[in-house]
Amino acid sequence: MTYRNRSTGPMTTAIHAGETPDPTTGASAPPLHMSSTFVTDQVAGFSAHDLEDNGAFLYARWGNPTVQMLEQKIAALEGTEDCLCVASGMAAATAIFLTFLSAGDHAVVSDVSYAGVAELARDTLPRLGIAVDTVNMSDPAAVAAAIRPNTKLIHTETPVNPIGRLTDLAEIATLAKQAGALMSCDATFASPLGQDCSALGVDLIMHSVTKYIGGHGDAVGGAVAGRKELIAQMRGEASIHHGGIMSPFNAWLIARGLSLLPMRMKAHEAGAMAVAQWLEAQPSVTRVIYPGLASQPQHDLAQRQMTNMSGMIAFQVGSAAQGEALHRR
Ligand SMILES: *Cc1c(COP(=O)(O)O)cnc(C)c1O
Repeated sequence: MTYRNRSTGPMTTAIHAGETPDPTTGASAPPLHMSSTFVTDQVAGFSAHDLEDNGAFLYARWGNPTVQMLEQKIAALEGTEDCLCVASGMAAATAIFLTFLSAGDHAVVSDVSYAGVAELARDTLPRLGIAVDTVNMSDPAAVAAAIRPNTKLIHTETPVNPIGRLTDLAEIATLAKQAGALMSCDATFASPLGQDCSALGVDLIMHSVTKYIGGHGDAVGGAVAGRKELIAQMRGEASIHHGGIMSPFNAWLIARGLSLLPMRMKAHEAGAMAVAQWLEAQPSVTRVIYPGLASQPQHDLAQRQMTNMSGMIAFQVGSAAQGEALHRR
């Protein structure tokens, strides 16, 4: 049941994917399994290597049915084989970086990204012997120039938090493939409705599900969607070894929020467009950044790549020089 494969539309997928009526009670709404441990006849050890495809549930760090329900829902929306849910968006970024990068490797990371991710890339990764170059991802030539023989990961974010700059995902995915590197995208601001990351060639689609996917401000979580073998590697490293798993209660809340994501994104887009147009008409506002505005330098890319313009707006009052002077005071 994948929305991206068009066998169902996004509204049906958001509601039904990952869910089945409960076989014992017939309940149609998803149950909340607050269980750390599961009783099974299958013999398995407590190693990440014991993680099996479609194996029985054993212990929550390997998997939990309520968390798995959310993982399947997000994978269906993204059109990927699998998804890993973790404790926060930052845990999702950490899962990508610490699963696929080792000492001696090199990563190319967007020069503007969510503050926590920027600091993780700039401070933590080099401390672990991982070289990082930060590059403007809207400039493919700069990305190509930054790639080295040991580049293992290109991490993008589009639209980027907080300045709304866009990355041409298909173009950067081609560069990553040529380099034999994985490409990840923090798609939090776009939501799964905003762009078809998997069709554009992104290997690892990351979300802070705390934001649009959960949508109610009551649960923190993170997700990475991608191919089965990549997700299994991350489950072994990030969940089983590093331990930053998502609570089943949060998964249940987030899945409940996600069921109306397609409708919420339409409302966010309409509301943001109205606010962006109003801001553009204000004499004190010198710049409005919203991908849906025809005045945007990247509007062509937005129309080509984005299927929902999302609700995030950046704007500037006064000049950049004025802003810097204020900052220095
Ligand atoms: C909020 C956010 C994160 C971090 O997510 P948490 O759930 O707060 O850990 C990462 N990337 C982007 C773009 C975000 O907006």
